[in-house]
Amino acid sequence: MELQPIAGGRRRLHILFMAAVGLLGWCTLIAAYALPGLPPGGEDGTLAAPLPVVLFLVVIVAARGMAFPLFPKTVVSLDGAFYVAATLCLGSVTAGILVAIALTLDASVRRVHTRDSRALAARDRLDSIAYVVFFGGMSGALLMISAWLFRADGALLGPEMDHLDVLFRVVGIGVTLLLLHYGVQAARLKIIGESIASFFRRTTLPGIVAEASLLPLAAVVVYLYDPDRPLGFSLLGATYLLINFALSRLTRTSDQLRHRVGELETLNAIARQLAASLERQELVTVVARETLRAIPQADSLTLARLDDDGHGELVLDHYERGNARFERIRAPAEGSAPARVLEVGEPLSIPDLDYSAYFPACSARRGSWVGIPMVMYGGVEGVIAIHSARPGALGAEQRQLLEAIGAQATVALQNARLYELAMVDGLTGLFVRRYFDARREEEIERARRYDTSFSVVMLDIDNFKALNDTHGHQAGDRVLRRLAAAVKREMRAVDTAARYGGEEIAMLLPRTSAAEAYQVADRVRAAIAGCEQEAGLVVTASLGVASYPECGASDSDELLARADRALYRAKRAGKNRVETDPPGGKELGAGADRGG
Ligand code: GH3
Ligand code: MG
Ligand code: MG
Repeated sequence: MELQPIAGGRRRLHILFMAAVGLLGWCTLIAAYALPGLPPGGEDGTLAAPLPVVLFLVVIVAARGMAFPLFPKTVVSLDGAFYVAATLCLGSVTAGILVAIALTLDASVRRVHTRDSRALAARDRLDSIAYVVFFGGMSGALLMISAWLFRADGALLGPEMDHLDVLFRVVGIGVTLLLLHYGVQAARLKIIGESIASFFRRTTLPGIVAEASLLPLAAVVVYLYDPDRPLGFSLLGATYLLINFALSRLTRTSDQLRHRVGELETLNAIARQLAASLERQELVTVVARETLRAIPQADSLTLARLDDDGHGELVLDHYERGNARFERIRAPAEGSAPARVLEVGEPLSIPDLDYSAYFPACSARRGSWVGIPMVMYGGVEGVIAIHSARPGALGAEQRQLLEAIGAQATVALQNARLYELAMVDGLTGLFVRRYFDARREEEIERARRYDTSFSVVMLDIDNFKALNDTHGHQAGDRVLRRLAAAVKREMRAVDTAARYGGEEIAMLLPRTSAAEAYQVADRVRAAIAGCEQEAGLVVTASLGVASYPECGASDSDELLARADRALYRAKRAGKNRVETDPPGGKELGAGADRGG
């Protein structure tokens, strides 16, 4: 039985339906037992001898305990044959009560079993109690009624039994019971919004086929039945249970395999996505999105690390499902679950935060939490944690999957960091020359293929040697850093700026014509000239612009050489200015408007 959240009105109707049908079933069974003259057509209505009743009960309860999934989402236990046999062997009333008791037991045990910790709230409890009453009472009463329809109590068993007659009654009772049973279940599911057609396809058809195919077994049970010599019946029951056991083990193993394959596919998909990017921000977003997709029980993901400044604070990047962006929070590390993971270097699962000494350090305070360490270069660098508002929702299975994802994420983030170290200049935070050279090759390829333009701008600081000589090399470095920041501010996200030489900066502007590039370059120049570097110190720069394909360069080296030539002209023309190659870009730029 699967309990899904159902909306208010429907849910009340559903509970009412289950309680009414269940109680009606129980009342019918008790009345049949208590009232003289019932069952119709029977010799007497007294209960059968205790030993056979117990044997039947044991077989039925054990078979239900070994219920196995026949198709995805359809759990069957092939015990119907024994119900039907019980009506002929023990009498309709005894069989009805026996089945009602067996199924009530079964449903109760299942209810306790599916209730992981306190996950089911009080509102769900009412549903499952009603279901237990419904399932036992309804099944027992329907069995008794089906048996009456085929006069099970009038069947003559023993050496003189008419085999054809027994077979006819077995099939009649079995098929009637199945049809009535699935009919009532369909009505119940209709109330909570499942379509009859889908119920028929998903459950009824495979269920009826499976159960009906075992009806001959019921006939064999009846032939073998002898209350005075229970061995034959017991052996048959035992064989039947062994087969059930084997089937249920097989299906469980294949289920586990399917589950593992699903997990591996998820991991593989994540690995491929992670391999596609070396940019930290993008990687982190992929990790968050894909983790929440792979672990549907989790509501949010947090990446945690200790703040570098030694104040004992955690920096938490928090990602809520459906919120598609990270939110940065700070929280005290002391006593928090992520700090514990950082310290111990082992995963930590908290099934219910209400009963934990640690708190998750993000805004959530209740539910369940799992955190795993990210181990880089032999040390724990951070923690990936997931949280669910439901206690008990995150367990060993989710932790295992998170660990597998975490291992991949760690490798990807490690690569991203190495890449960053290799490609970003330490002083200015701009890209290094090698990265710029690779980018301009890519860009010229793209421009050729899609017939678009792009531009390269070279910048050189004016009289920088003199500045160094007067104010010192360290002041020179500070100027360089501020100047780089100013350049970055003036650029779009798709543009690339690199430190090309000591105090030379190269810019790559995709999809930018000569006229637009002139404007950008002049804006950069003005921004630099307009800011005071240190008290009273203003630094200027000269820039050279060349655009593909306008300047006529045949490859990216030539394009760069032309930008350099333009820069040289700017220097000679008096510095703090922009020149283009070929000359005259300024006039073009005057009327250009660069699209963002
Ligand atoms: P111009 O206006 O013609 O460009 O004159 P300039 O003095 O800037 O000449 P040039 O472009 O050749 O300048 C190179 C100088 O830049 C040499 C060095 O003192 C300085 N420089 C290069 N890299 C660095 C650096 O990383 N830090 C500092 N402080 N200075 C650097
Ligand atoms: Mg220079
Ligand atoms: Mg210079």
